[in-house]
Amino acid sequence: MPTNFRPEHSFQALGSFFSQPVAPSPVREPQWIAFNQTLAEQLQLPAELHATQTGLSVWSGNEVPSWAQPIAHAYAGHQFGNLVPQLGDGRALLLAEVVDKHGKRWDVQLKGAGPTPFSRGGDGRSAVGPVLREYLLSESMFVLGVPTTRALAAVASGELVFRDQGGVPGAVFTRVASSHLRIGSFQFASLHGGAEKVQELADYAIARHYPELADTTGTERYLALLHAVAMKQAELVSQWLRVGFIHGVMNTDNTSICGETIDYGPAAFLDRYHPQKVFSSIDRRGRYAFSSQPAIAQWNLARLAECLLPLLTAESEHGDDEASVKAAREDAIALATRVLDAYSEQVQALWLSTMATKIGLEQAQAEDDELIQDFLVVLQTHDVDYTQAFWQLANELSERAGSSLQGESALVAPTAPAASLFTQPEDYLAWRQRWLQRLSENQRSVKDTIDAMRSVNPALIPRNHRIAEAITEVEESGSLKRFYTLLNAWKTPYNMPTSELELELYQAPSKAEEVQRTFCGT
Ligand code: AMP
Ligand code: MG
Repeated sequence: MPTNFRPEHSFQALGSFFSQPVAPSPVREPQWIAFNQTLAEQLQLPAELHATQTGLSVWSGNEVPSWAQPIAHAYAGHQFGNLVPQLGDGRALLLAEVVDKHGKRWDVQLKGAGPTPFSRGGDGRSAVGPVLREYLLSESMFVLGVPTTRALAAVASGELVFRDQGGVPGAVFTRVASSHLRIGSFQFASLHGGAEKVQELADYAIARHYPELADTTGTERYLALLHAVAMKQAELVSQWLRVGFIHGVMNTDNTSICGETIDYGPAAFLDRYHPQKVFSSIDRRGRYAFSSQPAIAQWNLARLAECLLPLLTAESEHGDDEASVKAAREDAIALATRVLDAYSEQVQALWLSTMATKIGLEQAQAEDDELIQDFLVVLQTHDVDYTQAFWQLANELSERAGSSLQGESALVAPTAPAASLFTQPEDYLAWRQRWLQRLSENQRSVKDTIDAMRSVNPALIPRNHRIAEAITEVEESGSLKRFYTLLNAWKTPYNMPTSELELELYQAPSKAEEVQRTFCGT
C-alpha cells in the first residue's frame, strides 16, 4: 500500500461516548453503479480500492479492510422543531478518515451498509433511488461551487429493501465529507454528557475545522467557534439561494459544523420560482421552504449556541451566589445573541451581493434589494423558471457585448430574449428598463458583466424530473444509461448549452413533467 494512504481515526479516539464500533452487514450480490475516479485520486486511494473487485467488496461493506475501524456516530437533533435526544448513524458507518493530496482530512462513510446500535428499528439500508439522487445532487452541487459532501461510490446490493412502495433494489453509498460533526452532535454531548463533553467536542471541532482558532482560550474560544460555524452557515445558505436549492430537511442533525450541504434525502432544485416552494413530502407545513432557509439556519445555530452556553459563561467575578451565576449566564446569552445577529447580517449581506452579481451589478448597494426583490416577484407572478430567468438575463446583454451599457441608446435594447419566458411580458419589460438603467452604473465592459453573470448563473441544474427519469429507468430495467448521461452532462453547469442533450437538459419541465413531491426514501 502506498505510504501516502494512511487512514486515521481521530474521531473514534474521542471515545465511546461519541461513537460505537459496528461492522457493516454483507450484501448478497454487489454490483457497481458508479465510482468517482477523480475523487479517489484526490483522496490518494490505492488502485486496488478503485473500481476493482476489491473496491466492490469494500464499498459494499462486504469486506472490512485492515485500515478501517467502522464506527457509528451518536448524535441527537431537532427534527422539524422537536428534540430527539438519541438519533445517531442508523444506516451509516464511518470507515476511516483519509488525508487527501492537499493535506485536507475527509471522513469516508458507508451509507446503507446495515443496522447499527442507532438504527432504532430501521433496517440500516438504502434504496437505490435515494442513492442515485444523492450521487447526482451532491456531485452537481460540487461543480456548482456549493460546499457539499461528495459521492465516492455507489454499489447495488443485489437485495431488496422494503419501503412504502414495497420491495425496491437496495444500494450502498460511499459518502465523503469534511466530517460528520453536526449541530446534533453537540446536542447529544450537551444532553448526555454536559459541559465537559461539549467542550471536548468543541475542541475537536476547532482542531479539525477551524485551526485558525487554535490559540484562542477561555470563553472567547467557544464564542469564536460559534461565530465561525455561523459564518459558514451564512455562506452555505446564500449559495443555496443562488442556485435555487431546497434542502428539505434542515434538522439540526442534518446541519454540518463545517458548513457543507449534507443529507440529500428530499432535496430538490426550484423549477418555477416561488419563495414558499417545498418539495419534501414530510414537510407538510413548509417549515423548510426555499426562502425560509436563512431563518431556519439561524434557528439551528441558536440550538448550537444553547449547547455552548456553559462554555461562554465566564467564572463569575462576584462569587457563586445565585444572582452572580444568573448574571454570568445572562452575559453568555448576550454574547451568543450577538453572534446570531451577526449571522443575520451576514446572510443578508451575502444574499444581496450574490443576487446583485446574478443580475449583473458590479457593486451591490442597499437600494438594489428592491430591484432584486421586484424581479423575483415578477418571476413568481408569471410562474417563470428560476434558472432560465437568470440565464436569459445575460443573453439580454450578449447582443451588445461589444458596446456599452451607458447612455440613452443602451436602454433601447434590440430584442428582449428573457421576455420569451413570459406569456405576458409587460411586467418583465417594465422591470427590465429599471434594470438596464441601474446597469448603466457599471464601470466594467459589457463582456465582463456577462462573464460575471455566467459564473454565478448555471444553465444546467440537476432538475427533479430528470433525476426521477433516471431512477425509474434503473428501477424498471436496471439500465444506468440515463444516470450516466446526466452525471456527465451536469459536470459543466455554467457552459453555454450547445449539444442537443444540453439544450434538452436546459429546458424546464412542462407542467405534466414537474415533480411535485420528493421523498426521504429512508
Ligand atoms: P435522515 O432523515 O437521513 O437525516 O435520518 C434521520 C435519522 O434516521 C438518522 O438517525 C438516520 O440514521 C436514521 N435512519 C434513516 N433511515 C434509516 C434506516 N433505513 N435504518 C436505520 N436508521 C435510519
Ligand atoms: Mg441525517
